[in-house]
Amino acid sequence: MQSDTLPFTAGTPGYRLAYHLGEDNHCPGCDRSHWLVGRMTAECAYCGTALPIGVGRTAGGGLFRSQGKPGVPLAA
Ligand SMILES: [Zn+2]
Repeated sequence: MQSDTLPFTAGTPGYRLAYHLGEDNHCPGCDRSHWLVGRMTAECAYCGTALPIGVGRTAGGGLFRSQGKPGVPLAA
């Protein structure tokens, strides 16, 4: 018997562990809740498990690009 559903759909994120800012987060490794929070990841202070910060979007200084005014040549 053939099923019409695929076992997974490529390109969809599915379930992922993430650290959520402003919420009570428990470590999946040791279940404690003391974190060292960086810009992109949070690390458990007890066991070192690192999780990406899941805020639903990415942020950071390197992600913004300016194209300037169209048609204006660069000053040399
Ligand atoms: Zn931990």
